[in-house]
Amino acid sequence: ENFQSCPVADFIMDAAELVEEKYRVNGIDFSIKYHDGSDAAAIECQRLHLSQVIVNLLNNACDAVKQLDEKWIRIQVNQTERQVIIRVMDSGPGIPADIQKRIFEPMYTTKDIGKGTGLGLSISKTIIHGHGGVLSIDDHCPNTCFILTLNKEHKHG
Ligand code: ADP
Ligand code: MG
Repeated sequence: ENFQSCPVADFIMDAAELVEEKYRVNGIDFSIKYHDGSDAAAIECQRLHLSQVIVNLLNNACDAVKQLDEKWIRIQVNQTERQVIIRVMDSGPGIPADIQKRIFEPMYTTKDIGKGTGLGLSISKTIIHGHGGVLSIDDHCPNTCFILTLNKEHKHG
């Protein structure tokens, strides 16, 4: 897929639409908030690949909260002059430090056989690296918060 300019709200919407029905069935309180006018922020990106990353994060968040009484998932978007920062947060139990060390390894999963391939985060990290961005865990949030930092301009080479 070629890199093309795409407003951040577009690929987030693509992803949200794909999980919408599953979230509704599971009674998950879901919100997307764009700060600093970031919905219109355009990123030079592979749109389908970035929406796939967001879907992976939203699917993991769903698995983390669906059995709980308190189940919310939030996307929060901010921008700076050169970057867009996307946080995906959930009300789940968080990820213990020893597991955090391994979550980006291919085929690492804590899910039951058949429930997880362990590839979601590893593929996501590869895609984000291909965009010159960073995918990590934000330790400043309670519960679980993944933070995706993307440059608006794609640096070739
Ligand atoms: P899979 O979802 O197939 O297990 P992933 O690469 O998407 O593979 O995730 C790897 C592991 O990271 C998960 O099995 C889980 O232990 C942990 N993880 C990812 N996201 C979350 C989350 N939001 N809350 C708790 N644990 C998570
Ligand atoms: Mg996953």
